[in-house]
Amino acid sequence: MRIVKNGDVHVSAPFGMSRREVDAFIAQHQDWIVEARKKTADRQKQRTDFFHQLPLTTKAQKEAATERLRAQVEPMIHKYAIIGVSPSVVSYKPMISRWGLCQVKDHSICFSLYLLLLPDWCVEHVVVHELCHLIEPSHNAHFHSLMDRFFPRWREARKETRRVAKAV
Ligand SMILES: [Zn+2]
Repeated sequence: MRIVKNGDVHVSAPFGMSRREVDAFIAQHQDWIVEARKKTADRQKQRTDFFHQLPLTTKAQKEAATERLRAQVEPMIHKYAIIGVSPSVVSYKPMISRWGLCQVKDHSICFSLYLLLLPDWCVEHVVVHELCHLIEPSHNAHFHSLMDRFFPRWREARKETRRVAKAV
């Protein structure tokens, strides 16, 4: 049994278990459900609060954030030219679902403006991550070996990013 983001309860029951047994199981775990729902809601609030630190509703706010992030990211892309790839286009959008996105087809990379809320070395980690994706699209052993080579502290950076952004 688990709580999904919108607060719904998802139950996986063994094949053959009756509806009544499932209902009884849920009834027995009411306290757990209430507690788990509260935790889910708290976590989501922390996450929402995190993103609200950087208001990006107006055009002017987005433009200012884009300029700030571009100034931070571009030198990093130059620094990591040693990886041997260069993106065709780099764009910046207010994405909350991910920090970066790369299109292997046209070698373009898009970064989340909310990177401005992360420590510098975590931003650098995202930049290297996306650049390595231009060589290896999957998160496989080859990809991890590239990360080990160009950004050895990638595991630590990933952990710190999750901690700072309250993402679980
Ligand atoms: Zn990735």
